[in-house]
Amino acid sequence: MLRDLLKKIFLVDLVKGLWITLKYTPQPAFTFQYPAERRQVSPRFRGVLRLQVDPESGAQVCIVCDQCAKACPDDLLSLGGHREPGMKLKALDYFDFNLSRCSFCGLCSEVCPTKPIKALVMSEDYELGSYSRAAQVLRIDDMYDGLPITQYTR
Ligand code: SF4
Ligand code: SF4
Repeated sequence: MLRDLLKKIFLVDLVKGLWITLKYTPQPAFTFQYPAERRQVSPRFRGVLRLQVDPESGAQVCIVCDQCAKACPDDLLSLGGHREPGMKLKALDYFDFNLSRCSFCGLCSEVCPTKPIKALVMSEDYELGSYSRAAQVLRIDDMYDGLPITQYTR
């Protein structure tokens, strides 16, 4: 009780706050001028989902196994393909992803079985805003190319 009273009289909390401010004032500002400057994200950052192709041949990596769609707890992925005569692998026809309800849990990407290149990855893209609900459903081209990001300059 007396301790609290003395703390109030001598403005201990205020002095503590000022000390923290003074301690950090001489240091350079840790501020990025977003969107002109973008901070590098950490290697395991979970951004918007992206489909990958083989970087050397440009061939489809996805084997249309549907495991990602089954793993999603919110049923946000829908995909399908067809098998050309004589081809072992199916061709991916559509891949729809409802970004608006994604919790970025990463389960869909984790179960994707393709090796050494994972067909479905969580990218570094974090700019997810759009002006309509329809634009929040990404189609196959968006899944391969990523969402368009406006590059601003200072
Ligand atoms: S990250 Fe999670 S919520 Fe989002 S699509 Fe994948 S499994 Fe579904
Ligand atoms: S993205 Fe991966 S898990 Fe999903 S259908 Fe393609 S290969 Fe299967």
